Amino acid sequence: MNYDNNNIFAKIIRAEIPCLSFYDINPQKKIHALVIPKGKYVDLDDFNTNASNEEIIGLMKGITTVAKKLGISSIDGKGYRALANISDYGGQEVPHLHFHLFGGEKVGKMVS
Ligand code: AMP
Repeated sequence: MNYDNNNIFAKIIRAEIPCLSFYDINPQKKIHALVIPKGKYVDLDDFNTNASNEEIIGLMKGITTVAKKLGISSIDGKGYRALANISDYGGQEVPHLHFHLFGGEKVGKMVS
């Protein structure tokens, strides 16, 4: 096998893939994933104020890419909720911007 500079890990190392995703350690729904930017942004307002347009587009598109991979997108699944908790009143616990993706079942009321 030859080394391909465009393989996914190489792109991540070069930061060409601007976001990452992984499952939440404490899932609140059947499917609960997190999507985060690679850059150091504390929350959505910090991100939208200081990130490049490329990073912002990358994260937004990344949400749908992940939803498609999980089979929950509105295109090939039944939908999901994307949610970002922002700062103190928003109930944010981890101070690195992240979108929660909840799906795999009816998610329920928006605010409880
Ligand atoms: P928030 O309240 O929006 O800041 O959400 C933080 C989320 O991070 C919670 O849903 C946690 O369950 C999740 N979390 C914390 N530590 C980890 C971890 N090591 N791996 C995956 N998810 C985590």
